[in-house]
Amino acid sequence: MRMNRRGFLKTASVPLGVSALGLEPLAAAQAARSSVVVVGGGAFGAWTALHLREMGHTVTLLDAYGPGNSRATSGDETRQIRCGYGDRELYSQSAFRAFAAWRARQEEFGVSLLTETGRLQLSPDWTPAMKATQATLAKLGVAVEALTQGDMRKRYPQMNPEGMGVGLLEPGASVIRAKQAILAVAAAFKRKGGTLTLARATPGRASGRRLLDLETAGGVRLEAQQYVFACGPWLPRLFPDLLGKRIQVPGRDVFYFGTPAGDARFSHPHLPNYSEATYYGFPSIDERGLKVCPTTGPSSFDPDTDERIVSPHEVRRARAYLALRFPALKDQPITETRVCQLENTADEHFIIDRHPAFENVLITGGGSGHGFKHGPVIGEYIARRVVGATTDAAFDHMVRLARG
Ligand SMILES: Cc1cc2nc3c(=O)[nH]c(=O)nc-3n(C[C@H](O)[C@H](O)[C@H](O)COP(=O)(O)OP(=O)(O)OC[C@H]3O[C@@H](n4cnc5c(N)ncnc54)[C@H](O)[C@@H]3O)c2cc1C
Repeated sequence: MRMNRRGFLKTASVPLGVSALGLEPLAAAQAARSSVVVVGGGAFGAWTALHLREMGHTVTLLDAYGPGNSRATSGDETRQIRCGYGDRELYSQSAFRAFAAWRARQEEFGVSLLTETGRLQLSPDWTPAMKATQATLAKLGVAVEALTQGDMRKRYPQMNPEGMGVGLLEPGASVIRAKQAILAVAAAFKRKGGTLTLARATPGRASGRRLLDLETAGGVRLEAQQYVFACGPWLPRLFPDLLGKRIQVPGRDVFYFGTPAGDARFSHPHLPNYSEATYYGFPSIDERGLKVCPTTGPSSFDPDTDERIVSPHEVRRARAYLALRFPALKDQPITETRVCQLENTADEHFIIDRHPAFENVLITGGGSGHGFKHGPVIGEYIARRVVGATTDAAFDHMVRLARG
């Protein structure tokens, strides 16, 4: 579905940055006496808050640095959405539903969030996961195309598929403007009557199996009936006993390489997203340059204090990769960089569950490098869990805390 002009005109304006969101002072959150407080305004928390508000609940959304901030995992410029998930069919179904939700929401928010790029998964040979992706996407009615090395050479002569015998192309896969999306979700939450506050909060006093309040860094206490902790990579330090070993927080250096002057071959729509075991990335979108992300990096990262500066070692590695896969870019300068952290579980399944000690606390995170796209669907799912509505039992089981 394409956004029409009327769609743009009828919608409220979308803030250009965190400061334009008009965050409420903490006193307003206290006065609101929320039925639910959501701590963390990333992809999981912001969408949860919006869905809860749309269900009619009084909701406060707290974020230590503001929704879409540059330390958050959701604060990068772009994230990919694709339905291919190997044999993890529940995530394929979720991504399929998320596609429809993103399209509808970009219309509602009046901001262009999706760019349809396609995604090419490269592999030396067919893998069981690729075969499973093909089968699942066929079931969902999502187009997918198998390419040989010869096909890839013909279709994308700007890419050298050396060493890659197979390419699986999902033509409908897209890139989401991630930071812009979070700002738009937070703005919609506020417009619809939610309270949005800049504050860091930790669990406060408890009575039996109920958490009574949150305590903010400034010593202010905030009460609600239900609490959702959607703190991404900060979760292990908020709940060290419970999550310290379940969620790992490695760092990733992300690069944008310049494209040659007057050369559109590496820009959307001439190149799809690409993905292989060592690297993945996107074509140049919004003239940023070709995105190049390694699948490995430093094993631990502090989301509060670590500097967001890429390492010379990762620069050298990324250049060596470019020289092989996109030789025409090997001498191009880096135009932008990002340093981001993941919040990985061992099996890469999300964690969404009640805190075992508190019946009114829900923990949600463990996006494991693939959580962003599911935001609108997972936010609704979490909201339903918060209010005790029925949810898919198989999904509940998959994301339970007690597994593994
Ligand atoms: C390099 C990289 C590439 C990725 N690529 C993709 C992709 O292509 N597609 C995809 O779907 N996913 C991708 N992901 C994964 C995706 O970005 C994450 O799964 C998702 O953004 C996590 O969202 P979150 O809400 O759990 O966490 P976050 O976005 O980190 O949000 C947590 C929020 O909580 C706030 N917070 C933390 N502690 C507190 C506190 N005590 N009080 C108040 N606020 C607090 C923080 O300020 C932050 O805003 C990628 C991740 C990385 C690192």
